[in-house]
Amino acid sequence: MYLRNLIPVLLLALIFSCKPNPDSQDATTSTEGFQWQIDQFEDVKILRYQVPGFEQLSLDQKKLAYFLTEAGYAGRDIMYSMNYRHNLEIRKGLEHVAKNFKGNRESEEWMALETYLKRVWFASGIHHHYSMDKFKPGFTRDYLTGIANETGAKFSDEALRAIFDPEFDNKKVNLDESKGLLLGSAVNFYDPDVTQKEVESYYAEKTKNKGERPVSYGLNSKIVRKADGSIDEEVYSANGLYGPAIKKIIYWLEQAKTVAENEKQAKAFDLLIEYYQTGDLKKWDEYNIVWTETKDGDLDYINGFVEVYNDPLGYRGSYENITQITDFEASKQMQVLSENAQWFEDNSTIMDEHKKENVVGVSYKVVNVVGESGDASPSTPIGVNLPNSSWIRAEHGSKSVSLGNIISAYENASGPGLLKEFANDEEEIALNEKYGGLADKLSTALHEVIGHASGVINPGVGTTKETLKSYASALEEARADIVALYFIRDPKIVELGLIPELDASKAEYDGFISNGLMKQLRRIELGKDIEESHMRNRQLISKWAYEMGKDDNVIEMVTGEGKTYININDYDKLREIFGVQLRELQRIKSEGDYDAGKHLVETYGVKVDPALHKEVLDRAAKLKSPPYSGFVNPKLVPVKDASGNITDVKIEYPDSFEEQMMEYAEKYSTL
Ligand code: ZN
Repeated sequence: MYLRNLIPVLLLALIFSCKPNPDSQDATTSTEGFQWQIDQFEDVKILRYQVPGFEQLSLDQKKLAYFLTEAGYAGRDIMYSMNYRHNLEIRKGLEHVAKNFKGNRESEEWMALETYLKRVWFASGIHHHYSMDKFKPGFTRDYLTGIANETGAKFSDEALRAIFDPEFDNKKVNLDESKGLLLGSAVNFYDPDVTQKEVESYYAEKTKNKGERPVSYGLNSKIVRKADGSIDEEVYSANGLYGPAIKKIIYWLEQAKTVAENEKQAKAFDLLIEYYQTGDLKKWDEYNIVWTETKDGDLDYINGFVEVYNDPLGYRGSYENITQITDFEASKQMQVLSENAQWFEDNSTIMDEHKKENVVGVSYKVVNVVGESGDASPSTPIGVNLPNSSWIRAEHGSKSVSLGNIISAYENASGPGLLKEFANDEEEIALNEKYGGLADKLSTALHEVIGHASGVINPGVGTTKETLKSYASALEEARADIVALYFIRDPKIVELGLIPELDASKAEYDGFISNGLMKQLRRIELGKDIEESHMRNRQLISKWAYEMGKDDNVIEMVTGEGKTYININDYDKLREIFGVQLRELQRIKSEGDYDAGKHLVETYGVKVDPALHKEVLDRAAKLKSPPYSGFVNPKLVPVKDASGNITDVKIEYPDSFEEQMMEYAEKYSTL
């Protein structure tokens, strides 16, 4: 599971551990004078992140990091193809034009085309990474075909239609059931005419005798229409779909194995390679068990078809890679949460029958990212909790990481503008500046370690995907968030030394509610509903809490000088409300209560008040800070001796998004 950063608002100075020591010998990770932001276009900015600790790695560890990032980039093209069937053709055509165009590069149409290409790179395709809407090109079809002819670039009629016809395949992932979850989605996990009903009956048949430990059906395949009209799976593997890219991934994983830090890690590489060779989902499970249990070692990674958010039906995994090294200092603090996981379970507001008697294997680490690819790049999660398979989690535990250097980069790059514009009073600003960063990190940790690990599903009730269907993601994220909100204001947190005083939790409450009720609306086009799971979940919690506390004026909408502000009048009452919400969200999950879940999401999570929405857009527009951020990766450069052996790996921080994307196109066009 991903935790996406939706509040890049907070803050100024980093209050604690993740900040690299300015006196460190490691000159490359001094934050002093480091340029965090290197580009900005439309609604996104491009940042860089540093990799503290890289220089301290041994040569073998540096090589391991290098091989793993190369494995990641080798699969980059897969994500473009998964997002939409014409993406690769469009990207390659535009890249060819960008490289070879000899005409006027100052014209408005050319600049619009450049921006369009940057957006395609950012989203790994022609649909917005967040709103899922197709980009509108700021240049004409004639202009594009003209310069395509000049430069020898090729675009099929279908690809041109995809770029220019606003009605054609206009939504990557559609969650509006009335349009048909599949027919309304452009995502390339299903042939265009395959329907939800067909897929549901296909899997009903397949999963009839699935047993206690089911594989993740559909995780690594595309559903295609066969000549006889029936549907079937095309599996991703070395000799199947995406074979050329997968063979390269395997090559780099084999290199990685030669410098594995320990036997378990090497064993995991073997299993992952076997899985890529065969596409066998049982191997994927075997791999995940070993991967989950590999806890020693300073390096770790995520590689595979993992998160299912891009599939409206929640079966198919998107390709991603994250290579990471442990941040030991910060991890120590998070370990405190893991060690006390049972206390949190016992002291939760959920019903006793929904509590876990033994919270198994909750592990949490703060890591520093070395390279990301596919679904995790350039837009990245800030925390990840894997594996996703419920039975593996129950029997073998899970790994949870917070991407420390990514969070640091966000904080270093973002000014206080948004906070100041939406804060109700000076106290809120002061608290946020003092504790915002700390509270934010802690709530991420609580969400991942305690939130996702908490609670049991009643015997006989299926997985949330089966019971809660398209509402499963939003409800699960809401449940994890509400656990964090409830406990961050628990005296236990102070007792454990995680925050110095309970007031720090106020910063989290202020930030969460004002984001959920107002600030996040700046990411949505006027007139549109909220579609993305994490955003739905945040509004769901906030609006529901607002309504629950209305009689006691717990959360107040204040207006002054034509602007709306949010004031929390009673933080303890609000915590009580969160406790009630937690109990209900857990009940819905435990009982698989689809109707109640649907009702909550539809009532509180989807619709937007148009007047308030417009106000937020106007106020945010004045700040001129793009709502989304993404990252270029540092470049790992192997140094070789005369016989070709790697003697060192240098790290460089690129300063152009465009250059990195063109370099990736050159080096990693595998499909
Ligand atoms: Zn989550």
